[in-house]
Amino acid sequence: MNVAFVQPNFQTGPRHLNAFYLPYTVGILWSYASQYPHINENFSVKHWIFRRDPVEQVVKQLADCEIVFFSLYVWNREYCFKIAKKLKELNPKVYTVFGGPDLPHRNKNLFDEFPFIDVAVIGEGEHMVYEILDQYLIGNRPNKHRAHAPRIRDLEIPSPYLTGIFDELIAAHPDIEWMPTLETDRGCPYKCTFCDWGSLTSSKVVKFGLERVFAELEWFSKMKMPFLTMTNANFGIFKERDILITDKIVELSRETGYPSGLGVSYAKNSNKDVFDIVRKFQEVNIQTGFILSLQTTTDSVLENVKRTNMNINDVSEIANYGRSLQLPIFTEIIMGLPGETLESWKQNIKNILDAGLHNGIDAFLLNMIENAPMVDDIEKYDLKTFAAYDMFYETSDSLEESDRVNETIQVIKSTSTLTVDELLETIIYTWFVIGFHIHGISDIIAIYLRRAKNVSYKEFYDKLIDQLRKDQNIIEWENKIRHAYLDWHNTGIFKLDLIGLKLSSWQVPNSMSLIMHQTNTVDHYIDIVKDFVISNYDIDADIINDYEVLSKNRIKQWGRYNITPKQICTKTTLFDFTQNLCYSVTNEQQQYLIADRYNQFPTELSQHIDYVIYGRRKMWVLNVVDKL
Ligand code: SF4
Repeated sequence: MNVAFVQPNFQTGPRHLNAFYLPYTVGILWSYASQYPHINENFSVKHWIFRRDPVEQVVKQLADCEIVFFSLYVWNREYCFKIAKKLKELNPKVYTVFGGPDLPHRNKNLFDEFPFIDVAVIGEGEHMVYEILDQYLIGNRPNKHRAHAPRIRDLEIPSPYLTGIFDELIAAHPDIEWMPTLETDRGCPYKCTFCDWGSLTSSKVVKFGLERVFAELEWFSKMKMPFLTMTNANFGIFKERDILITDKIVELSRETGYPSGLGVSYAKNSNKDVFDIVRKFQEVNIQTGFILSLQTTTDSVLENVKRTNMNINDVSEIANYGRSLQLPIFTEIIMGLPGETLESWKQNIKNILDAGLHNGIDAFLLNMIENAPMVDDIEKYDLKTFAAYDMFYETSDSLEESDRVNETIQVIKSTSTLTVDELLETIIYTWFVIGFHIHGISDIIAIYLRRAKNVSYKEFYDKLIDQLRKDQNIIEWENKIRHAYLDWHNTGIFKLDLIGLKLSSWQVPNSMSLIMHQTNTVDHYIDIVKDFVISNYDIDADIINDYEVLSKNRIKQWGRYNITPKQICTKTTLFDFTQNLCYSVTNEQQQYLIADRYNQFPTELSQHIDYVIYGRRKMWVLNVVDKL
């Protein structure tokens, strides 16, 4: 009997790579079930649906299967529903089984609203898929049935990679850059209300055997898969074990070149141990960045979302430690959490910069995920949302417009403490600060003023933003973003074409820099900041001169690449001071070598822009400045 597994995803990363995820989640369901001989002998997998091909085409493929298993997440739910609906129309006998984090299982009318679902699996699916297949063989095919899977305490599950489940799929698509997913443990001990992971896995973190993990890593290297995504919610939480896994990845990368890139979430209350891991990756040039998923620094908001972060003093300590090791640290924050205000948001940004975190900030709008506990807080915090159809992070859809199926996510629009306008102001404020500070236009001088003259980041950026709002370009860009954002509430599709740049909603907070690179105005805005500082602060001419020289050379600008490193001279120790390498700025001449960080020199402006946005966590846009 033929079965099929459906776990479609978008293409990921820069378009030219043609990269897709291997459908690991459904792969492991089958590797578990097929270890039983009677399942393996009686069923065979006819199709793995891993990408969003045209619906009609997929439905035809699936129509001669006995059972089709769907794994739902926010990025594929509507697409899967459409397939299942049409599939049932074409062949009502196909037995459909749905699971995954986005299954709306709390809906009492689940089977009425989604009549194409025969079985809804709630929880971890491996054993349940086995049982469904086992029962199917003896003619037991319950319909409109909710199957509650207990938590799996023993992850002795054969690996879908090592059992060869994906071999045919890989061989059939030699043009695809496959992205494997590594699961070393399962679960999260936290219960942040905006996330479905902690509540889904009921706290306890269960581990896969180390031998299996190592063998999978060897397989990825053997298959020459460059980018590895790890599913861990808190990598580094098991200190000794996670260091062993790190060592294995590093060893393979050094010996074979694979993996060369890694996506991972580190332990929340990160400590110095996690740095050891990041440092090891860094040694073989795997740039994972050290990401502090703060989400907010506002105590009352942390309480509202039941999240425990390290306190901000510890964050400062971690930032200092990272700097001493020359490891960049990135920060993730969420806009629109319950209880946040415009002022507390500005304070968040100030806290982050005060803690010495200047390398990267990613700011996201709060999404209401189907099974996240926050849906129970909607009334309490007056959470108003709108349906967005375009919230897929770093993804793209290669389908023609007519074949596209919009995925829907509820995105925050206002809360009891943030009106629609205030939330928009939050986004715009973040757009300014990330664009100017994080992408290297104003950080050197802002850090100098903070440390040498006690000018707070909040005061500096409030004033600078007022000044920038007199610039004709900025006025136009800001207006267009405001318009696009408000339209988005009504249409669900964010449409913004700014000077030839088609921006997605998730790119907006980071888009100031893209716009400047696109319009070749980086130097112009450094000049504006320079004039602003001269008119507002008492500042030495040599310092302002050095700020200009350093900033204009440190930013990697289109058409002005440092194919060979370039030497520059400054009149003061300003740069060392901003890097915490000295306690005051003195008038001593300094020589620096400015070198490209990755020796990547795109030949098209559009590629340059792509690298600025996709390489933001690797500081792609900033050259390395080394003292001679
Ligand atoms: S946000 Fe992270 S730490 Fe919080 S519950 Fe989800 S996975 Fe766990």
